[in-house]
Amino acid sequence: MRPQQLNPLFRPITALPGIGPRIAKLVEKLAGPKVVDLLWHLPSGLIDRRFAPKIAAAPAGQIATITVRVDKHVKAPGRKAPYRVKVSDDSGKMDLVFFNARGDWLDQTLPVGETRVISGRVEHYRGIIQMTHPDHIVTEAERDQLAGIEPVWPMTQGLSPKAFGRAMTAALADAPELEEWHDGALMKREGWPGWREALVAAHSPTTEADLSPMTLVRKRLAYDELLASQLAMTLVRAHMRRQGGRATTGDGSLRERALAALPFSLTGGQVEAAREITGDMAAPQRMLRLLQGDVGSGKTVVAALAMLTAAGAGRQAALMAPTEILARQHFATLAPLFEAAGQRIALLTGRDRGAPRRALLADLAAGEIAAVVGTHAVIQDDVIYNDLALAVVDEQHRFGVAQRLALAGKGKAVDVLVMTATPIPRTLTLLAYGDLDVSQLTEKPAGRQPVDTRTLPLSRLDEVVAAVGRTIKDGTGDEGPGRVFWVCPLVAESEVLDPAAAEERFATLDKLFPGQVGLVHGRMRAADKDAAVADFAEGRTRILIATTVIEVGVDVPAASVMVIEHAERFGLAQLHQLRGRIGRGRRRATCLLLYGANLTQMARARLRILRETDDGFRIAEEDLRLRGAGEVLGTRQSGLPAFRLADIATHADLMEMARDDAALILQRDPGLAGPRGEALRTLLYLFERDGAVAYARSG
Ligand code: ADP
Ligand code: MG
Repeated sequence: MRPQQLNPLFRPITALPGIGPRIAKLVEKLAGPKVVDLLWHLPSGLIDRRFAPKIAAAPAGQIATITVRVDKHVKAPGRKAPYRVKVSDDSGKMDLVFFNARGDWLDQTLPVGETRVISGRVEHYRGIIQMTHPDHIVTEAERDQLAGIEPVWPMTQGLSPKAFGRAMTAALADAPELEEWHDGALMKREGWPGWREALVAAHSPTTEADLSPMTLVRKRLAYDELLASQLAMTLVRAHMRRQGGRATTGDGSLRERALAALPFSLTGGQVEAAREITGDMAAPQRMLRLLQGDVGSGKTVVAALAMLTAAGAGRQAALMAPTEILARQHFATLAPLFEAAGQRIALLTGRDRGAPRRALLADLAAGEIAAVVGTHAVIQDDVIYNDLALAVVDEQHRFGVAQRLALAGKGKAVDVLVMTATPIPRTLTLLAYGDLDVSQLTEKPAGRQPVDTRTLPLSRLDEVVAAVGRTIKDGTGDEGPGRVFWVCPLVAESEVLDPAAAEERFATLDKLFPGQVGLVHGRMRAADKDAAVADFAEGRTRILIATTVIEVGVDVPAASVMVIEHAERFGLAQLHQLRGRIGRGRRRATCLLLYGANLTQMARARLRILRETDDGFRIAEEDLRLRGAGEVLGTRQSGLPAFRLADIATHADLMEMARDDAALILQRDPGLAGPRGEALRTLLYLFERDGAVAYARSG
């Protein structure tokens, strides 16, 4: 149970003064639903209100705090015109300007004849000195409330910084003094303040330098977060290891039969990875392995062999994929291999309902199905396995650790294999996956064609359309007419897809190539998405207009051309994933990256990298070099957990420290039972690693 002293921090933000339901929604979007989330929302700037000139000396554009006498209210003459309050001091006059203001509120706040201290940005407008919506209006007695230097937190539209600041002050007041969890020697060496002191200081910067992630205060807070994360990861891993494993071995005959059915032979990397996995499964410890390999490197086949190893031992395997499309794709790859091995495999997604689902679950519970492939449907409560021995989780960064654990919890000492195509450097896989064992597929399957990648301006769209037309007419080769992926852009400057762009492109191309164009995007119903992909895969359509829903795993070897509109709006890793969808068949593959007008130097350089290489790791590194780690690692695709206080790029050294620290702590006190252990548990609760604490308790 969470220590009581943390309870105030885990109240909903609505418990804070001034946060009603409307504001709560905004604050929640910005920081999170709980008081503690507010504490993690550190200032990004500051405002110095110490400059207190006379009116006549107040320069335009500056933040100033001015003591004025209220002379007169001039009500808004029309709906759009502002309400003006005339004020003065002995040096001159100025106007306070309010749009859509409530007159009664202004009468109360700025009574005629009284003195007020106002603070805000000074403007000079048509010879008049004015201030629009002063940030603060207080009486002389309250002057001290204008702290002099005021933190600025990242804001969202509709939220008033003042209301937010008040809530933050209350949240900070709720923060308890906590027993120090860090080692005394470390604290001394680093010169770090205690937790509460650091937190309060981080929210009260007095100079620009205080905003740097490298201050003692911010480093301490970042280290708290990193240590909590590493401790949790180490605890989970230790727990899984401790539960012991089971040796899962078959005689290998099922694998042999499946391999014989493959139309190709395995790459060296696949053979090696399969060997490592079978070794892990045969060992009495539990397997926790990451299978890392670029798009198209053939991870699914390796997973199939592992799943057949489980089947060969008379046990079961489950594969969980992040999307319905991907689950179906995996099923299509696995089904023939299982058939060759004489084993039953089933697909289970959120769409299975009613009697067929019940029948499937019954067979699964009875052990009549050797393996199941699906979305998170495979971890629903009522899905019971007869004897689950292997959990394969594909593209795990789209799942939380909790889901991975949920799948592993469906059996006894389940071996876990995580598959990812995200090319992140080794040091960073640590962050994303903890210290899993790693198998890498570095070579591409033989016969894979390098993709001819070209960049050209969108103004040449007509030529591109003509080339696409030729591709889908061309019937030479045994694969029939060519097929084309056409990827539509993201909304400018965002990671948001724009279905309108896709629909519009669909309309224009469908007119040119009637009946041969399909459309798939994220807002469509799952069944329609599948149908669109299936039509394309089976050749009923020859152009598939898509948003990035096809980014992961869609496997249509006959597709040899990919057009990407506004390629400059995509992340490099994402473009690389997308491009990985082609070059899988015999036809020479071409990827056309179309860019909009006014391409920046940086965008040009990034697209050039894609033209030059198709090595996912190199692309990731170059992108890192060009854009800086923060950008690259901050993105959704990075696969890294989101940190609130730590910045993976600037705090890399702290990261390493935290890992070693966590290992040492748990080596000395695996149950976190000692006095420092108590404090460390509080740390884990503070960062909501409650699940991990349970593992410490079970010691
Ligand atoms: P990944 O999941 O790593 O992106 P897949 O497992 O989907 O890659 O494999 C991509 C394609 O390559 C599939 O069509 C698969 O059948 C094929 N493939 C896998 N291994 C080989 C191999 N050794 N030789 C030739 N083709 C292969
Ligand atoms: Mg795959």
